[in-house]
Amino acid sequence: MVPTVEDLKGRRVLVTGSTQGIGLAAVEAFVRAGARVGMNGRKAPADLEATLARLNGLGGGSGGEVAFFPADVSSSEACAGLVSAFVGRFGGIDVLVNNAGGLVGRKPLEEIDDGFFDAVADLNARSALMVTKYALPHLRESVRQSGASASVILVGSVAGHTGGGPGAGLYGAAKAWLHNIQKNWVAFHTKDGIRFNTVSPGTFDTAFHADKDAGAKARIAAGIPMGRLGRAEECAPAFLFFASNACSGYVTGQILEVNGGQYMP
Ligand code: NAD
Repeated sequence: MVPTVEDLKGRRVLVTGSTQGIGLAAVEAFVRAGARVGMNGRKAPADLEATLARLNGLGGGSGGEVAFFPADVSSSEACAGLVSAFVGRFGGIDVLVNNAGGLVGRKPLEEIDDGFFDAVADLNARSALMVTKYALPHLRESVRQSGASASVILVGSVAGHTGGGPGAGLYGAAKAWLHNIQKNWVAFHTKDGIRFNTVSPGTFDTAFHADKDAGAKARIAAGIPMGRLGRAEECAPAFLFFASNACSGYVTGQILEVNGGQYMP
């Protein structure tokens, strides 16, 4: 039998850093699948009401819905607040997608100071750890009540394998840290019924690459076997796959590369 994502209907899914780009495309895919989704960003986008109306329209008759939760996940206190606000609204968490992340800036080794180190680590590593930590009791409760696995999905990067581009060494290292720490979570929290997996994008044409002009993007594209950058919506099915027990119920501790052949571990 071909698995479907029917089992995402009504699932409560929190996606951090999801007001644009890969996170927003994931929110769209989850709501289409009938999930009840938390969209998060540091602050509400200017067009929040229109965005929510559009996203809620995508649910159609599936019961999918979206609510927005502002929180700067670089702060542990804000991570706790985000989880508590989401649970206050939806009553629990079944799926957590730790998507928030970014370069913060580009600094070669000689220019890295404590402030920059902390900012990159806080946004890319601490955020995922803290949101997962605060979500843990709710994920366990989801498993207890539903009898189905809960799912935590990290967003790694090709940079976590290769070390990152110019000035992005800390960012690449933070992503490698995510690739690694899920192994520990699998070892010690599989007993809780939680699956942990990572979606590892290659180069996707989002605001993440706003510092590059068309020529720079064309040069990157030339090094990708598929000859182009990824589109945010092309990453979304990977999140559905890891969230769905019908699709990936026996998959944990894995990294799925979504990169047009750019990197093959
Ligand atoms: P993006 O810059 O378009 O989106 C980042 C999102 O994170 C935005 O919604 C932003 O509001 C949110 N965000 C940033 N800082 C935040 C904070 N402190 N608290 C809460 N939200 C915050 O980037 P993207 O390309 O969509 O990246 C999404 C994820 O994919 C990131 O983890 C990124 O590292 C990873 N990634 C991206 C690429 C790529 O080529 N675009 C490649 C590999 C990995």
